[in-house]
Amino acid sequence: MFVSGLIASSRERPEQAAILHADLDSFYASVEQRDNPRLRGRAVLVGGGVVLAASYEAKAFGVRTPMNVRQALSLCPNAIVVPPRMSAYSQASKAVFEIFRDTTPEVEGISIDEAFLDVAGLRRIAGAPVDIARDLRTRVRTEVGLPISVGVARTKFLAKVASAVSKPDGLLEVPPDQELEFLHPLPVERLWGVGEVTARELHERGITKVGQLADMGEGPLAAVLGPAIGKHLYALSWARDPRRVDTGRRRRSIGAQRALGRRHRSDEELEAYLHGLADRLGHRLRKARRVCRTIVLRMRFDDFTRATRSHTLPEATDSGQAVLRAARTLLAAALPLIHERGGLTLIGLSLTNLDHADTMQLSLPFEPRAESTLDSTLDALRDRFGAGTVTRAALLGKGEGLSVPILPD
Ligand SMILES: [Mg+2]
Repeated sequence: MFVSGLIASSRERPEQAAILHADLDSFYASVEQRDNPRLRGRAVLVGGGVVLAASYEAKAFGVRTPMNVRQALSLCPNAIVVPPRMSAYSQASKAVFEIFRDTTPEVEGISIDEAFLDVAGLRRIAGAPVDIARDLRTRVRTEVGLPISVGVARTKFLAKVASAVSKPDGLLEVPPDQELEFLHPLPVERLWGVGEVTARELHERGITKVGQLADMGEGPLAAVLGPAIGKHLYALSWARDPRRVDTGRRRRSIGAQRALGRRHRSDEELEAYLHGLADRLGHRLRKARRVCRTIVLRMRFDDFTRATRSHTLPEATDSGQAVLRAARTLLAAALPLIHERGGLTLIGLSLTNLDHADTMQLSLPFEPRAESTLDSTLDALRDRFGAGTVTRAALLGKGEGLSVPILPD
């Protein structure tokens, strides 16, 4: 569907390059050089048996992490080996993250020394993203005494690649209209998910640059690497990466409910309302790029007492049909209780045990399913024309009832 494709791409591809990937350079080694002037400008290895971090002076000799210290010293005999001081690193990390959070509330920490920052909303108060990135680097340098590299791009993936390319102590912006020019000449190893094995498979076929991989097409790539990784790498090679900066403060559950009044509702009516709730929640789940594992049926009886029933699926899902199946099973099991208590005055459904849909992407096969095709078609219609556009036949004529205000998911 042409129209839904457009909707999807405008939602996934913000116009502005406003995601920062900030990554401290050779973090542990830089802290050691900061705290001990004797180590500045020298090849420094932090570690015991294994090199945990190497200064750029050591990396110039081919030292990588993790690497055996003995092997590292054979490459770089003049290197100074220092034992790690974890409490100093953790203190430095805290100070840097304070600067991150002072820059924007939208901070997604990746590890002790790197984070994504979304600065899209800050143009009017703090300037353009690239200026914010420059200020951030200056602050980390002057207030914490450490070099940090920052990539600025429209997506997390490109921002991360940009910071890596800019290292050490660099700043690199990838403007939205130059993404492919930037990405395609890079070696395939720059793509997330290309490890040694995948790189070797690609090299054996003469594919060394991201642009060559992009030109291969998804089908042939999937034939070589398998459908999941093929699809993933093909999307990245065309700079498609829909993941948002995730501050971890998002909601742990989403729910919807429907007040039914005191009139008696048949079992079929209850089931029809449940269909409506499951559809709506499935849509919100996918829109928030979440998956859920637990489905909770909420019931309120005539005497205002409440009861809940829940079911946890073996695997997380964002499928409206899977949610509906679980909800119907719960309702069927609760019917004797509902009859005994004289019917329901409210029916609700919550989805909990939420996770990010993106974290599933590499672990699940990308088999197209009839169910997800139906879901995405319904979602596209709702996004375009509003939530009330599509109603299951079972709900026609029943009205939308009381709609409960919801927080963004
Ligand atoms: Mg780092």
